[in-house]
Amino acid sequence: MEINLSFKESLAIGYKSKSQKARRLTEGWILDNLYCPRCGNLKLQHSDNNAAVSDFYCLNCNNTFELKSKSRAIGNRFVNGAYDTMIQRITSNTNPDFLFMSYCQNELKLENLLLIPKHFFVPDIIEKRKPLSPCARRSGWTGCNIFIGKIPEQGRIYIIRNKNIIPKQTVMALVSRSNTLVIEDIENRGWIMDVLYCINSINCDTFSLKQIYEFESYLAIKHPDNHNIKAKIRQQLQLLRDKGHIEFLGNGQYRKIV
Ligand SMILES: [Zn+2]
Repeated sequence: MEINLSFKESLAIGYKSKSQKARRLTEGWILDNLYCPRCGNLKLQHSDNNAAVSDFYCLNCNNTFELKSKSRAIGNRFVNGAYDTMIQRITSNTNPDFLFMSYCQNELKLENLLLIPKHFFVPDIIEKRKPLSPCARRSGWTGCNIFIGKIPEQGRIYIIRNKNIIPKQTVMALVSRSNTLVIEDIENRGWIMDVLYCINSINCDTFSLKQIYEFESYLAIKHPDNHNIKAKIRQQLQLLRDKGHIEFLGNGQYRKIV
């Protein structure tokens, strides 16, 4: 199936509000063009049971996807729904995979489509927004942003990047590789994501234990209950080695496996 970046304008006919039109166009695009990035099934299905959220699922592997879209650059943040609901979904492992889409409003063409697998979501990437003001209709309601810039690059899988269609095999290989980082326990998941983030921010293929220890105070702020950060770092490095993401070279030296 050929992926076509243009939206089908006819889908928006008869819809008045800008947001309704955008939703018809973006959801229609997914149904016409997107395969299941987990199992390769040629089509995704739309779930109609939740009018508030754009949800899709795969008939073959049963995986679910939630679509978020905007007509600006993809950026670092996506506005999401209620803060408490999102935290609850993450901590109870009921979060779907997310698809973040950006498109050009004038050309009605898709520019970026980014998949973030569910197991990369940790409470740390959910930012609380200011509660709605007392005069708002839903006064006190607190929304959130998903801070995708904080997600380690292993969990940011582009399906379309700057209008370039990434080959399906490449996408599926990256998804499958990201599956090695599935950690059910939310606290442990936070740790591996944080240490990955530190490793990724070292701009070199090799790094030393000493370089990772330099993140000790950063990690201590994020995990105030842990009083032996260095031991935890070493444990996470072993885990990342066992999962095939880094290689031990000896003498406190490591290499990233990409
Ligand atoms: Zn599937």
